[in-house]
Amino acid sequence: MAMITYKFKISAKQTQKDKIIETISLCRWLYNTALEQRILLYREKKQSLSFYTQKKELPLLKKEFPIFKTVHSQVLQNVLERLDKAYKGFFGRIRKEQKAGFPRFKGTNRFHSFTYPQSGFELKGNVLKLSKIGDVRIRRHRKIAGKIKTCTIIHKNGNFFVCFACETTKVAVPALPKKSVGVDLGVQHLAITSDGEIFENPKHLRKNERKLKRLQRSVSKKKKGSNRRKKAVRLLAKLHEHIANKRRDTSHKVSRKLVNEYDLIVFENLNVQGMVKNHHLAKSITDSAWRNLIDLTLYKAENAGKRVVLVNPYNTSQMCSECGTIVKKTLKERVHSCSCGYIEDRDINAAKNILQLGLSTIKTVI
Ligand SMILES: [Zn+2]
Repeated sequence: MAMITYKFKISAKQTQKDKIIETISLCRWLYNTALEQRILLYREKKQSLSFYTQKKELPLLKKEFPIFKTVHSQVLQNVLERLDKAYKGFFGRIRKEQKAGFPRFKGTNRFHSFTYPQSGFELKGNVLKLSKIGDVRIRRHRKIAGKIKTCTIIHKNGNFFVCFACETTKVAVPALPKKSVGVDLGVQHLAITSDGEIFENPKHLRKNERKLKRLQRSVSKKKKGSNRRKKAVRLLAKLHEHIANKRRDTSHKVSRKLVNEYDLIVFENLNVQGMVKNHHLAKSITDSAWRNLIDLTLYKAENAGKRVVLVNPYNTSQMCSECGTIVKKTLKERVHSCSCGYIEDRDINAAKNILQLGLSTIKTVI
């Protein structure tokens, strides 16, 4: 028996979307509260709580906070099970003397889903019946093989998805993507791929960015509330919009090309710490351009049934994509030259590392 997960986009009414978002936030609250309960009990009485003990408390919780009655009971149980798994994983890692990482409280950016572990959902054609939510449509771009075991509803980056975990007797169904690519995001070029393709920034962008800086200075010099300042602010807003439009056009073209050509596209994850801490203007501009490119690619890939993976960019520019040696280089050094004999453009080498990382993380989500 093998487990495969199928992921589909959901279209739902606004009221249903609101309900999904509310359910996720209730589940997150439950997760954090149950974690807190475990921590406190251990701290004060050196006792540990089991999944079953916590599960038994759910009826009481619903009595005191009736809003939890609006969530399917197995969904709530599953939250406690998730916490239990996090605990077991933690102790398992301690036993194996690995880096442990205690189960953490989940912020909104770390909690995107809830799961119906057995019942409460039913799939009929393209309609998915969800208990306490209603009937939603799914964009079924693939046939589902095997028996659906669990149903997970996800809300991420403004999109709604469902994942079905299926048990199947077919072996090794999820074939590796046929064509995959790693993408290194840059300042000189917008992006460069592991196949060596270069995507340039929109033309005249640099000129416009210089102009932008000049305008920003001129706004800050003018007296607040003055007509001259208002005029300068208008000009500045117009230029901002012009640059953003050009950026968008380019991102649309590049993302379309990537999605058409590849089954798997790997980007660096811009949310990883260190990338976002820079407050320079130029950095924030390129940052938003990269984000835009990734978002558009995600969106188009989703609709085309292709996959996008984001990886931690740590060391991707320093490591040799051929042999794994760390070859230290400053930002100015544009060529990667390794003692193993491999010589490559710095960004292409990075893109190749990004691709490798992406390939190593994909599991059986199709
Ligand atoms: Zn090497």
